[in-house]
Amino acid sequence: MTAAQAGCLTAALEIGYHLLDRGAPALTAVEQAIRVLEQSGLFNAGRGSHVQLDGVRRMDASIMEGQDLQAGAVASIEGIVHPISAARLVMEQTTHVLLVGKPGSAFARHCGLERQPRRPSGHAAGKAAMTRVWSPKTLELYRTMMSSGPALRKRAGKETVGAVALDQTGTIAAGASTGGIDLMLPGRVGDTPIIGCGVYADNESGAVSMTGLGEGIIRIAVAKEICDRLAQGERPVSAATQVLKKLVRRIKGAAGSLVLAPDGRFAITHVTPRMAAGWWNGKGRPTVRDSFQ
Ligand code: ASP
Repeated sequence: MTAAQAGCLTAALEIGYHLLDRGAPALTAVEQAIRVLEQSGLFNAGRGSHVQLDGVRRMDASIMEGQDLQAGAVASIEGIVHPISAARLVMEQTTHVLLVGKPGSAFARHCGLERQPRRPSGHAAGKAAMTRVWSPKTLELYRTMMSSGPALRKRAGKETVGAVALDQTGTIAAGASTGGIDLMLPGRVGDTPIIGCGVYADNESGAVSMTGLGEGIIRIAVAKEICDRLAQGERPVSAATQVLKKLVRRIKGAAGSLVLAPDGRFAITHVTPRMAAGWWNGKGRPTVRDSFQ
């Protein structure tokens, strides 16, 4: 983690905590903390999102609150800075949970969300590039790269962003926002916008926000499985560890989780070599670290 990333994580924790301290809902703390990270360009979300193999930045995000189990998400949206706010708008302004692609992007623009170029400068456009992306040779190369995905993400040094929070009314919330993984095929969607996989929140169990290789997280439905264990009385650290171990054992997955129980116990757990994250309960300074092993 660079000093700039550590500073940005600290700022996000402070903004989230101060909102909670003033009585704001957990949902707002989660959204606003994630907006700081999306805005910075220092993480794989918002301004810093990875591009897909055709040079376009397509982003995924979701948000959920634990009292009424309301949730909103966007997948593969382009041209906006804050997908997490688009996800919240889907939750609050529509009767749906998930909007995708160009119509999802149009919805976000219609709601007045800040825009950014869909293709960062320096990334070539053109139909020829798309044909190359789907050639058998490229697909073979892509398969090889996918099996070393965690190493690739480490090299890139930018991670997906997420947050969990507990407010003064006892409600919890979780959210996540991502530009996906390195070198992904156009149209690829990971776990982040899929409720129960990348994010879950229920006042009767807990709040979970995931990072890692989405192709594995989806197949184990990790966030919901961790919450189910919390509901059975398991401690956050044990619930997260057991499910992440299963992810590794069953499908050689790689991931990290933020887990928060309704009573305030929490765990930051990862089976990747590192995971930049932090926490704050308002006492002293926020804790921000590169590894929680
Ligand atoms: N989970 C994200 C995805 O698969 C990527 C990440 O967390 O690094 O899209």
